[in-house]
Amino acid sequence: MENSIRRLLGIFCGIFLAASIQAQQTVPAVKNVILMIGDGMGLTQVSAAMLESPQPLALERAAFTGFAKTYSADSKITDSAAGGTALATGHKTNNGYIGMDPEKRPLKTILERAEEKGLATGLVATYEITNATPASFIAHNESRKNEEEIALDFLKTGIDLFIGGGKRKFDRRNDGKDLLKELQAKGYRTVYTLDDVKSIDRGKVAALLADGHLPRIRAGRGDMLPEATRQALTILKNNNPEGFFVMIEGSQIDGGGHANEGETIVAELLDFDTAIREAFDFADRNPSTLVVVTADHETGGFSLPASRQDKTVPGYKFGTSGHTAVMVPVYAYGTGAEQFTGIMENTDIPKKIAALLRLE
Ligand code: MG
Ligand code: ZN
Repeated sequence: MENSIRRLLGIFCGIFLAASIQAQQTVPAVKNVILMIGDGMGLTQVSAAMLESPQPLALERAAFTGFAKTYSADSKITDSAAGGTALATGHKTNNGYIGMDPEKRPLKTILERAEEKGLATGLVATYEITNATPASFIAHNESRKNEEEIALDFLKTGIDLFIGGGKRKFDRRNDGKDLLKELQAKGYRTVYTLDDVKSIDRGKVAALLADGHLPRIRAGRGDMLPEATRQALTILKNNNPEGFFVMIEGSQIDGGGHANEGETIVAELLDFDTAIREAFDFADRNPSTLVVVTADHETGGFSLPASRQDKTVPGYKFGTSGHTAVMVPVYAYGTGAEQFTGIMENTDIPKKIAALLRLE
């Protein structure tokens, strides 16, 4: 009798101990973070792509999902600068501001904090790399329009790699500077084709694959985004086995929304989803990797009512040529993904990532 009571007590103590240890470890340590931003990617954009895709989207592998509120400091309808800054710094700011608070004080970004901790860092986009979304992670400027100044900020950091468009902001500048030469002097390999990117598997890389934006997928961009994603993950992993932070943007979903072109939205989203598949597969192969996929805002007030010609298939309808105030979806995959459920502020996303990367 006494023995069985003692045994029971032992079991209870064991359970209590295990529970308290677990409480201390509710936030698991993550090594690699891949933040993927579909610019202008609302739930309707994702739904339209799902309906067009013969197989499930890679996104659907994300077991943990939530919603993010996107309003900025000075508007219920954010732009990509304030939206990007929120996702990069954990602070709401005014539309148009890059990596600065509403009082125009620079805010440290999660990429900069990851770099300070010694992690490898990267940015990938299909618009110019100095455009608002990637700029928000590396630059500090009162206007997203100052893209030549934003390009200068790339040289103030130790970022390992960036791949995107916008070569002209580096080598055909109003101040006459040749930032490509300056990047080379800092040890970067500067390359201008996707094939060159694919031939590199480590080191510092500045890949500027177009003078301006890369073309739309329907104008022949091809596999640039998924291929650049795969190569970026390889390079960052080789550069630092201790871990990395990278932001990868499906930049041009937004353009489809502004142009009110449903077909463009679907094509850009399916391309972004292929890049997401690369990231999720990387997370499968590399333990302690977290992938978070979200958007800065929805674009177009996109909806999918039954079409006039055929009531069984959706037509593409738009409420605006601008951005809207609806919440955006959040999808998380890999280690720590369970932290990204429910309704959250867009600013919560980098805070959660910082906690998982132990940047605090
Ligand atoms: Mg963008
Ligand atoms: Zn936009």
